[in-house]
Amino acid sequence: MSRTYKALALLSGGLDSQLAICVLREQGIHVEAITFRSPFFGADKGCKAAEALGVPHHVVDFTEEILEQVRNPAHGLGNAMNPCIDCHAHMIMRAGELLEKRGFDFIATGEVLAQRPMSQNKNSLGIVARCSKYEDLLVRPLCARFLPPTRPVREGWIDVDRLPAFSGRNRTPQIKLAEHFGLKDYPAPAGGCLLTEKLFGIKLKDLLEKEGLDDDRTNVWLLKTGRHMRLSDDVKIIVGSCEADNALLDEKARPNDYRLACPDLPGPLAIAPANIGEPLLRTAAAICARYAKRPGDGPVRVEIRQAGEARIIEVLPMDPAQVATYMIAT
Ligand code: SF4
Repeated sequence: MSRTYKALALLSGGLDSQLAICVLREQGIHVEAITFRSPFFGADKGCKAAEALGVPHHVVDFTEEILEQVRNPAHGLGNAMNPCIDCHAHMIMRAGELLEKRGFDFIATGEVLAQRPMSQNKNSLGIVARCSKYEDLLVRPLCARFLPPTRPVREGWIDVDRLPAFSGRNRTPQIKLAEHFGLKDYPAPAGGCLLTEKLFGIKLKDLLEKEGLDDDRTNVWLLKTGRHMRLSDDVKIIVGSCEADNALLDEKARPNDYRLACPDLPGPLAIAPANIGEPLLRTAAAICARYAKRPGDGPVRVEIRQAGEARIIEVLPMDPAQVATYMIAT
């Protein structure tokens, strides 16, 4: 009796990663999925897809690995702060750890040859495979027919001739195959990783260069929240842009951070570091007042709280054009 092989498939939740799972299952392979989460990409889409596909699912925190790749990208960054080649290689490496622990036979990914010019050309796929340390146990089922046969193919665990042969950017074949497998709910191909967004990249670069990382990485997670403004080399303030931002900033501010808000008006909560000093604290208050919803002109009362103490100052809201000069990414 032939044995059932076990694959661990990287599942972002996108169509390609779902199809890779479907084509392997069609060959009788037991497939489980692994999804990574970090401050730059979440696991929600992967979780949703795993549930819809009915595959056992492993969610792994990837924060430290991706931060290391962003700071020291052995194979460079893409158009923004995205170290895609190193990131892929390390995801496969992490999958490899689970493979060893749980006795999977091989790892699968939904990569498609030449779909992305930089990170999915033949050379990049080869680099990713080699750097992952699991080169010979790695299968890209959607384009394996174009790639050197790895052990699962050579030893007949998978019939490569029954796999699709996708390459290039045309999505029509994938959409047809999705219909074949009855996949209806899948996200648009691009998007989902903040590291590929230029404006986000500027904020991250600023943080790495000027501030460094908090021990618990809170300042990285907060990059997604509010408006980030640099008042000096060592002072950045964050100004909430909605109620949810305000609540999160209030929750995540460090114990000695300043909290600024206009007590008489609806508007933002702003947080500022303890080392801000009085002149920049007034600048921060004027910025905070600029975003408050005030009925007319004139000074605005701003409450400044720190470590259980509060005081009120009056400031003129800053002119929007001047506020823009402090914005880290617009
Ligand atoms: S887009 Fe983001 S998650 Fe995807 S490989 Fe690149 S850095 Fe990693």
